[in-house]
Amino acid sequence: MAQTAVTPEIEFPTIPLSDLGPWATFFGLFAAIVVFFISADQGAISIPAGTMIHEWVHDARHLLGYPCH
Ligand SMILES: [Zn+2]
Repeated sequence: MAQTAVTPEIEFPTIPLSDLGPWATFFGLFAAIVVFFISADQGAISIPAGTMIHEWVHDARHLLGYPCH
């Protein structure tokens, strides 16, 4: 009985760079929004009034080294 070596053929999908553009833009904007809310100190450019977001992301702010108090 002869044994034949089976070599699996794996095809990696190729993604054109032009297809990645919209996703890179989306995640870039999403990351900017996340960083904005983490770094928001409830100052002049903060969208919601009050200290609600400040309290929600208080520990994340300290973890990232933003000045807080
Ligand atoms: Zn703090």
